Amino acid sequence: MTRHVIQMSGGIGSFWAAKRVADQHGTADLVLLFADTLVEDEDLYRFLGDAAAHLGVELVTVRDGRTPFEVYFDEHFLGNSRLAPCTKRLKQIPCRKWLEANCDPADTVVYVGIDHAEQRRIPGVIKGWSPWRVEFPMDDEPHWSKDGMLDECRALGIAVPRLYDLCYEHNNCGGVCVRAGREQWLLTLEVFPERYAEAERQEQRFREEFGKDVAILTETVAGVKRPLTLAELRRRYEGGLIRRRRKTRQLALADVAA
Ligand code: SF4
Repeated sequence: MTRHVIQMSGGIGSFWAAKRVADQHGTADLVLLFADTLVEDEDLYRFLGDAAAHLGVELVTVRDGRTPFEVYFDEHFLGNSRLAPCTKRLKQIPCRKWLEANCDPADTVVYVGIDHAEQRRIPGVIKGWSPWRVEFPMDDEPHWSKDGMLDECRALGIAVPRLYDLCYEHNNCGGVCVRAGREQWLLTLEVFPERYAEAERQEQRFREEFGKDVAILTETVAGVKRPLTLAELRRRYEGGLIRRRRKTRQLALADVAA
């Protein structure tokens, strides 16, 4: 008996990875494993519930118990677009502990929802999950774009996570992922100003508490890279010095038909 463990992130890719594995292997030995960072968008939990009900598989939730900012304060290191210790602490380690307690690498396959467009990430993920075998069902044909996956999900009668409809590329950490770039922070400033304000407050508190001139974002001026704080980004945006490059997500086929 092989156990099939889906690393269920709440993203559309991991849902379709689970769906493909269920279609191929059935659901008797299928596990949907979700690591909760405690700062997810509330609609992510609705989506996970709908996805689990659709597949007829129970969701297993693991958690470290801290938020990303609590990890940064504990480690005296502010997560940023290049290095984010939160992924390891809040997702990888809790999932690995669950695997170690419940699965044998000899008869377990872990599935990750990375798709064909993100193929370059695959070697690192395989290395990171060793000794477990990892497969990537969304890297197999047929190759679907993210918009295609969203449309196919709607066609099943499952509402897609709302962050996608709000033009986020990923449904993670409530739209305040430190690895996202400036554009996503500006999007968050527009659609979730209270989340932006909280991240700005935490970043400032980190800078003061550790006396470090660091920031989640950086910018390069005259060839010199320097921190760009969320406070400064907001001031420039509010002052009309910068704009967000507006992006609209392709309308769902059902919306077009209506
Ligand atoms: S989604 Fe971003 S902020 Fe959240 S745990 Fe991963 S790297 Fe950290």
